[in-house]
Amino acid sequence: HDYRIDESMPFFRRQERRITGLLGVIDPLSIEDYIHHEGYAGLAEALRKDSADILQEVNGSGLRGRGGAGFPTGRKWQFARQARGDQKYVVCNADEGDPGAYMNRAEIEGNPHAVLEGMAIAGYVIGANRGYIYVRAEYPLAVETLRKAVAQAREYGLLGKNILGTSFDFDIEIFLGSGAFVCGEETALLASLEQKRGNPRHRPPFPAIEGLFGKPTVINNVGTLSNIPLIIRKGAQWWKSVGTDTTRGTKVFCLTGKIRNSGLIEVPMGITMKEIVFDIGGGIPDEKKFKAAQLGGPSGGFIPAEHLDLPIDYESLQTIGSIMGSGGMVILDEDSCMVDAAHFFLQFDQDESCGQCVPCRIGLPLMIRMLEKISGGKGEMSDLENLTVVAESLRKTSLCALGQTAANPTLSTLRFFRDEYEAHIRDKKCPAGVCRSLIRF
Ligand code: SF4
Repeated sequence: HDYRIDESMPFFRRQERRITGLLGVIDPLSIEDYIHHEGYAGLAEALRKDSADILQEVNGSGLRGRGGAGFPTGRKWQFARQARGDQKYVVCNADEGDPGAYMNRAEIEGNPHAVLEGMAIAGYVIGANRGYIYVRAEYPLAVETLRKAVAQAREYGLLGKNILGTSFDFDIEIFLGSGAFVCGEETALLASLEQKRGNPRHRPPFPAIEGLFGKPTVINNVGTLSNIPLIIRKGAQWWKSVGTDTTRGTKVFCLTGKIRNSGLIEVPMGITMKEIVFDIGGGIPDEKKFKAAQLGGPSGGFIPAEHLDLPIDYESLQTIGSIMGSGGMVILDEDSCMVDAAHFFLQFDQDESCGQCVPCRIGLPLMIRMLEKISGGKGEMSDLENLTVVAESLRKTSLCALGQTAANPTLSTLRFFRDEYEAHIRDKKCPAGVCRSLIRF
C-alpha cells in the first residue's frame, strides 16, 4: 500500500508535510505499513539511549505544544521527570473542539501509531508506564482506529511489558470524552478522566507536578506527540531546520471557509498568511475580496488584510492580539459581518462554559446581549466601551483559559473592524448585509 501525492500541485507546493506526510500514504490499520515507513524506529532509538539524552534531544528541537499554548514540550517533560512519585502518567489530549478544526481527527485516523509512539517515548523520558488518550466520542472512526492500533502495538511488543526486550513497560488506554469543549482544558480533562465532572481547577499545582490522581502527568496534544518520533529518528537539528528563531518546525492547520482550496495543510512556521491564502488556498472564490483569517477559534483573533504579510509564529501573532491556536484557520470574505463573527464565538463559549465562576457565567451573556443590541440596530457608541470593560474583567478574573480568552475574537474585531460596529450603530446598517434580518428600524 503506497502512493504519493503530486507535490507540484499549488496546494502542496508550499507545504512541508512532516507529520501529515504519511496520511493517505499508509494504511492506518496496518502496523506493518507504519513500520515499513520507519515507524517505531524512534522508540527503538530512544530505548537504546539514556532517557536524559532523549529529553535533551526534545529540548534541543525547540518543539512547543501544538495544542495552542506553545509551552516548550521538553520543559514540561522535565518538570514531570523531576517530580517525585512512584506512579506517573502520559495523557494525550485528543479532545479537539474548536470550530473549524479537525487536524487531530485526521492525524489519528491517518496515522495512529505516530501518536502511540510519541506517548511511549514520553513515558520513557518521564518514567511513566501508563498512558491515556482522551479522545472525543464524536470521532467514532478515530476511536476505532486508535483501539485497533493499540491492540496491534501490544501484539508486536511495542506496548505492554518489556517493550522491544528492554525493562521498559508502557501501556495505553483509550478514554472517550463526552463532548464538553471545556474538557480540552487540561485540568478539566484530568477531572473527567478521574470520572468527575469536567470542571477546570486553579493552577498551580500544574499537572506535571500534580496531575491525574494527584500524580505527575504530562499532557500533550496529538500534534505535539506525532512530532516526537520524527525528532528522535531524524534528530533535533533536522527537525528545527524549518521555522523561525522562536517557533521551530511545522504546523498543521485546517484551511476552511471562503477559500478555493480548503483542507488540511502543514506549513513551515514563519510562512505568511498571504502565502497560505493565495498560494496554497488559491485565493477567495467568486472574485470576492479577502476580509480576514480567523485563527485559534473561540480563544483567537482575526488577521485582517493589512496584516497578510505577518509571519505565522507565536510571537508575531501576539503582536496583533491573536494566537496560533490548535490549528483552525477560517477565511472570511467581504460578505462576512465581523459583529456577527464575534457573536458566533461568544455564543459558542457561553454554550460551552462550565459556569462555575462568575466572570465567565455572567460576563459572556452580558457581552452577547450587547452585540445583539448592536446587530439589531439598537446599539449606542457607549456599548463599544462597555464591551471592552467586560472583556477586560473576563480576561483578568476568569478561572480558566476558556473565560480568560473568550473575549479575544470580539476585541480583535473591535480593533480591526471598528468601522463595521459603528456602521451598525450609526447607520443602523450591516455593511455586509448579514444582519439585515435582525435590524429593526
Ligand atoms: Fe468554567 Fe468559564 Fe470559569 Fe473556565 S472561566 S472555570 S469555563 S466558568
